[in-house]
Amino acid sequence: MTTTHAPADARRLADELLTLEIGFAATVQDDRIAAGRIQREAVALGRTDLVLRARVAEIVVLLREGDTAGGGRAIHQVHPEAVELGDDYLLARCHRALSIFFRQLGDLATALAHAVQCMSHTADDVVPAIRARHLMCLAVLLDETGSPGEALRRFGEALEIATVHRDAELALLLLNNMTYTACVRGDLAAAEDLERRMRFAARSAGVPLSATCLDTCARVAMLAGRYADVEVILGAFLTDDAPKHLLDEGNALEEAMLTAAEAQRELGNDSRAQAILDRVLRLCAEHDLPGLQARAREQQALVHAAAGRYREAFEEYRRFHTETQVLTSAQQDARSRTLQAVHQAEEARRATDEFRELAHRDALTGLHNRRHVDEALPVALGVIGVRGGWLSVALIDLDHFKRVNDTRSHETGDLVLRDVADLLLGTAPDDAVVGRLGGEEFVVLLPGADATAAWIAAERIRLAVAGHDWAPVTGGLPVTCSVGVTSVRGPGPAPAAVLAAADRNLYAAKRGGRDRVCGDPVTSS
Ligand code: GH3
Ligand code: MG
Ligand code: MG
Repeated sequence: MTTTHAPADARRLADELLTLEIGFAATVQDDRIAAGRIQREAVALGRTDLVLRARVAEIVVLLREGDTAGGGRAIHQVHPEAVELGDDYLLARCHRALSIFFRQLGDLATALAHAVQCMSHTADDVVPAIRARHLMCLAVLLDETGSPGEALRRFGEALEIATVHRDAELALLLLNNMTYTACVRGDLAAAEDLERRMRFAARSAGVPLSATCLDTCARVAMLAGRYADVEVILGAFLTDDAPKHLLDEGNALEEAMLTAAEAQRELGNDSRAQAILDRVLRLCAEHDLPGLQARAREQQALVHAAAGRYREAFEEYRRFHTETQVLTSAQQDARSRTLQAVHQAEEARRATDEFRELAHRDALTGLHNRRHVDEALPVALGVIGVRGGWLSVALIDLDHFKRVNDTRSHETGDLVLRDVADLLLGTAPDDAVVGRLGGEEFVVLLPGADATAAWIAAERIRLAVAGHDWAPVTGGLPVTCSVGVTSVRGPGPAPAAVLAAADRNLYAAKRGGRDRVCGDPVTSS
């Protein structure tokens, strides 16, 4: 049933994830629904890597929606799991999300550190669209932390990828970022050149410039002293029915209006500037945008001052100052609350880890228990699904164990089980997972072991048990075990199918006379 479709399903899920990871097309809501569905399907397939990728995609949606605390908590939980899995692509995505989180908190240094780690996990063969977006994330942070030269280099690399791969959406995004940063630097020549390229990219792609891009063009005009051009560039957003489809970011409309007001003030058209500012202030109050409102007040003070209304200017400037201070302390409050929430979540996770460890141990032998194996096997299969390579599973069952209980005692039986556990731990390789599935049945997961290596490991286990001096424990009654091994190469079958194969081989070992190892039947090709 599902197993036969598993590789095709996994490929489809990976494709859908990639679309989400690149995505701009869908709305935030669509993205969240898609991430949730992919996550459920990946769980059903037992593909830990895809589950975690879907969770990161979901977290990026949370962060985009402005749920900094929720996204921060979640990414701090997913990241250790990604480290455990050791999948570079996933790790890069985690660091990218962490970078977004810390940037939202205003901790640019930590955000930059994560952007750098995001790049260091981005392998050369990663899909260009993803690579370019990771580069852009790094470039933005380099710029914001005062390394414009380094930023420019990354922007350039990303732009080259966008150009080569005709990724118009990305090219526009990059050119807008680059133009804006050139404006902030005050580099008019670069800003004008980049603006031309941005307009050209939009024309070639047949898409209109978004409000954010147009606002950047208006900034270039202001830098050049072409104040009259601003009203032409942003005219559409000053009417009563602003083109909604161009409003690409939350506050794009208010931002554009604020720029227009500033330009009118520079031109000396005080009444026009005032009319625009009145509307901005109304929108800020309606939509609760304290940051923009403070900036609008600053403009208002300047308009008053230009008209010689110094008293009003002073009052407005004081309001601007107070609001900015309230805003800064509110931001700091939010920042420490968020960090605290994330920190508490990490503490809780550590505590849970300890309980989980206890819940994952077998009380008699101290080995991992069945619950742990049920979780560890899909992870181990997920690892080879991503990285390739082999995984072998050995099922070990003691022979005629009932006799020990019946002819000696149940306590003697317990002692034998403990000694067998020690022998297994002593013989299994360091990276093996050794567990007791129940009764007198044990399991050893052997990462990286092909059929030959697994057979050697199983034979060592069998010899260790049979060769052990059992006389002090059982008084001469021998203890032996039968072992069934199976080996799979990633991306392999589902966990249940792997255990079933090992169990079939164990049954063959029992039927073959016990005290022996049986592996997968050799199929002629
Ligand atoms: P086979 O070679 O076919 O595996 O024979 P067997 O006797 O080992 O298998 P069987 O399944 O008939 O019996 C397993 C026994 O293991 C039955 C039960 O009394 C014993 N057992 C299960 N759990 C424990 C335990 O925790 N302690 C002790 N002392 N015995 C246990
Ligand atoms: Mg048995
Ligand atoms: Mg048994």
